[in-house]
Amino acid sequence: METIKRDIAVIGAGPGGYVAALRAAQLGKSVVLFERDRVGGTCMNWGCIPTKSLLHQTKVFQELRKNKALEGPVGQVVCNWAKVQDEKRKVVDRLVRGVEFLLLRNGIELVPGPAALLDERHILAYPAGEEKTYEADRIILATGSRSADLPFLKADGRDVITSFEALAFESVPQSLLVVGAGAIGLEMGTIYSRMGTEVTVLEILPRILPGSDRDLAARLELLLKRQGLKIFTGMKIEQGVKQENGPLVLRGTCLKNQTPFEFKAERVLLAAGRRANSDKLYAGTPFVPVNRQGFIQVDASLQTSVPGLYAIGDLIGGKLLAHKASHEGLIAAVNAAGGKETMSYDALPMAVFTDPEFASVGLTEEEARVQTDKVQVGLFSFQANGRALTMECGEGQVKIVAGPDDRILGAHILGPCASDLLAELTLAMFKGLKIQDVSSAIHIHPTLSEAVMEAALKVKGLALHAVN
Ligand code: FAD
Repeated sequence: METIKRDIAVIGAGPGGYVAALRAAQLGKSVVLFERDRVGGTCMNWGCIPTKSLLHQTKVFQELRKNKALEGPVGQVVCNWAKVQDEKRKVVDRLVRGVEFLLLRNGIELVPGPAALLDERHILAYPAGEEKTYEADRIILATGSRSADLPFLKADGRDVITSFEALAFESVPQSLLVVGAGAIGLEMGTIYSRMGTEVTVLEILPRILPGSDRDLAARLELLLKRQGLKIFTGMKIEQGVKQENGPLVLRGTCLKNQTPFEFKAERVLLAAGRRANSDKLYAGTPFVPVNRQGFIQVDASLQTSVPGLYAIGDLIGGKLLAHKASHEGLIAAVNAAGGKETMSYDALPMAVFTDPEFASVGLTEEEARVQTDKVQVGLFSFQANGRALTMECGEGQVKIVAGPDDRILGAHILGPCASDLLAELTLAMFKGLKIQDVSSAIHIHPTLSEAVMEAALKVKGLALHAVN
């Protein structure tokens, strides 16, 4: 059988893999990219983009109903769920076509269908149903992750579902139990709560968004409850039962007071973690070491313990974020092409697209206090930001955490457009800037970004629109 030779092969065309392929091609390498499903991966097809589309469409609906200045038959406006789904599909398809075009223009060979490693240099694939072997000097693994089951609760795609099915409901469920109060659970809960679904979120840990800034996460929990989501933390689920022609029942123990609980709903959404797609990577015996959760282990250059074999994105664990996968894709591509770059996670931002949004980078105040007792904090409320009030979005705060040398160690924003506002502070952290670099830069008035500047001023007791 003929072996097709390329410089670099990439398995998986999600935001990790396709970005790696593009960069490798830009560096002059011949590249083959294998994708078993749709280009764009989880992010574009079943993750970041479809959720944001549903969040946008349902937010427009909600704002229209809430707006105090509108008159006329607004009360009669209904949200056509089939059209909401159509809009989502259009955006996704457009983006997928865009990436396919870019791959083509960069001379990347896209091979549809699953690919499997034969050894550290060879890959088996079936383009157009025909078995073919590819040989590459370097291989980048980017096969992503999938939703994880719980030991006593397995997704069946109908009653117990994952985000994959929840993004494509044909009709809006009457009630939904969400297991897990991380980003996916809260975003999905927000979407369906806006559509009138009775949403209950159960989280085993003591607070939502585990690991995030304690105060801002607590505030977000309160705001989401005001929006109608029922959120219970410290809830250990021990049993899931489907009643004959009846609702699903989740039973367990509330860890706060050791009392039993029982919740019922039409559907249960599992949003309590993800598993690496590392198990179906091989045509024969697995040979790349994984950790206990199945994530592939890599060094700082993103190389596995097998020389010439790199791994990136959700497949290697850490924070499961699209921009992390893409950045790793860039680093791995450069290294596979002969470069020597290392991956740093110090300024890795994240966001949750609830209302208000929550975004965060670097250390929380608590984490910083473990490192040094001379932590400085600046907190500024959107209640004192003119632009936020004109947008009827005064809820939330900007928190900046700085070290004794005034360098920014972390930043956390709960508020309107938090995910976009955080970019300024991420860049500041990335470049090792001090709070004065942010506070002394001129910010446009009236903008939300003034809240960032004021939080930086507040670190030194110099905020203008707050009592210091
Ligand atoms: P993936 O995107 O999972 O891509 C892996 C690709 O590999 C897939 O296309 C798969 O089909 C392919 N593949 C797997 N095995 C093979 C094989 N053997 N042969 C060929 N191809 C194969 N992150 C954010 O940063 N922001 C968000 O707002 C956000 N929202 C999300 C919402 C939801 C509901 C979900 C589920 C995730 C969300 N994420 C978000 C996470 C984000 O989608 C992932 O972190 C990101 O997609 C990981 O990229 P990746 O390239 O590592 O893997």
